[in-house]
Amino acid sequence: MFELPKLSYGYDALEPYIDAKTMEIHHSKHHQAYTDKFNAAIKGHEKMEKMKADDIIKNLNHVPEGIRTAVRNNGGGYVNHNFFWQVLKKDVQISGDIKVAINQKFDSFEKFKEEFASAASTHFGSGWAWLVLNKGKLEIMATPNQDSPLTQGKTPLLTIDVWEHAYYLKYMNKRPAYVDAFFNVINWDKVNELYKNTKR
Ligand code: MN
Repeated sequence: MFELPKLSYGYDALEPYIDAKTMEIHHSKHHQAYTDKFNAAIKGHEKMEKMKADDIIKNLNHVPEGIRTAVRNNGGGYVNHNFFWQVLKKDVQISGDIKVAINQKFDSFEKFKEEFASAASTHFGSGWAWLVLNKGKLEIMATPNQDSPLTQGKTPLLTIDVWEHAYYLKYMNKRPAYVDAFFNVINWDKVNELYKNTKR
């Protein structure tokens, strides 16, 4: 049984950029629902019940066809949110190896910000924008619905949830305003740690 992870911070920790009510509903209702439906989908598939959730999503094409869509959507929702909570923290300045790598790849932090914000703001419908490592190289991408870069063999370093449930209570239809505020709640220390662990 996969369990909803506890957050290492309070629902109000990201105020005013992401409000406490949104965090509470997002974690305790939406993420819980993905968790429950993921468990229901793989029930009785003993091999998968013992696997790490990330490994199931990495090897989605090995999941039996009859439950593959349910695993893709709900297992994807489960692991994407697990990851998302970890890269959120208020007022962390970018530093270390990831700062150097971003400046090298995108010319400047401002250019990176523009490209990431554009991927998040212009993605049509529900989904996620990501900073990933693809064969050792930084890349910005978006995925629809609950698809994960893990399924494409890429390693997530940072993500923003652009489903309406992630911002609608506070920002309503103004996704770009949410995306802009998001840059105040990126846990760059965590992103740097993930970058260094993957590069190693
Ligand atoms: Mn979400």
